[in-house]
Amino acid sequence: MENLSTKREMDWLKVLFHLQLFISFLCSLHYLINEAYWTTTIYSIFIILLSVLGVTAGAHRLWAHKSYTANTKLKFFLALCQTLSGSGSIYDWVRWHRLHHKHFNTILDPYNPSKGFFFSHIKGNTLSLSPAQEKSLDEIDMSDVEEDKIVMFQKKYYIPLYFIVTLLLTLNAPAEYWSENIVSSIFVAGWFRYFVTLHLVWLINSATKIWGLLPGEKYPCDTNLVFILSKNYWLSYHYLAPWDYQTSEYSKYGTDCVSKFIRVCAALEYATDLKTVDCKTVQKALIHSLHENKSINEALLESEANSKIPVEHYLTPFKYQ
Ligand SMILES: [Zn+2]
Repeated sequence: MENLSTKREMDWLKVLFHLQLFISFLCSLHYLINEAYWTTTIYSIFIILLSVLGVTAGAHRLWAHKSYTANTKLKFFLALCQTLSGSGSIYDWVRWHRLHHKHFNTILDPYNPSKGFFFSHIKGNTLSLSPAQEKSLDEIDMSDVEEDKIVMFQKKYYIPLYFIVTLLLTLNAPAEYWSENIVSSIFVAGWFRYFVTLHLVWLINSATKIWGLLPGEKYPCDTNLVFILSKNYWLSYHYLAPWDYQTSEYSKYGTDCVSKFIRVCAALEYATDLKTVDCKTVQKALIHSLHENKSINEALLESEANSKIPVEHYLTPFKYQ
């Protein structure tokens, strides 16, 4: 690894895509405000929510971190929602996200947050991987995902699925069902929806630069921004215990919509084996890691395996205090 270059080249096709996305989003605001039916706007927001659910509950918490298991119906639904997002195949998303966790905040992290918000949110997505990152990406264990028939089907047919599910069906619906002008449909259900969705998806890797507290920073922060940005340590916790299904991508714990969605799925027996941990077990794990000279991640993982969380937490967030 030491001999391999860590230099990343700019991928100009990706840069052009980002520019196109941004300019088209600005144009879409005109159609959103002046031209489109309100049904098209509500429909676009609904598709955004489904897409984000597919990436957060599906690609992130289910497939990348195995924080719970899902039956075939739930997997199919989440894979369909993830396809709507147009953020690449589940397989590729999971591989890059595992690389991000494995080398978090280092030169091998494709979204390296230590380089600032702009790098982790935008620039990291426009650079090709360095030879050292490519090697590390090849070493990521994907055997669990490779056994998943739904993920592998989506990977194999991703390009036709992208054109049919992400673009054609989604853009055609407003024109087909409530006679929306096709240009308004392309800008609002197309570019506006795609811009908002992709930025919400990219935030999963860059949120730590917005909501994450730096070591030594106090809470609540001494800034007016506290009214819109509730900073906390939950994002740092996610990098210590990524398997905890209750850590939200956007800085909450247990009370966010995705955790509630997973709990409802568990109550309906669509999701099982929800992994989480209570505060006392975390305290014991921290002491254990000190005494046994183990990493905190390792000690937390062991504690989760040994802890007995009551099944009732499926419908009420398990107390972490
Ligand atoms: Zn993660």
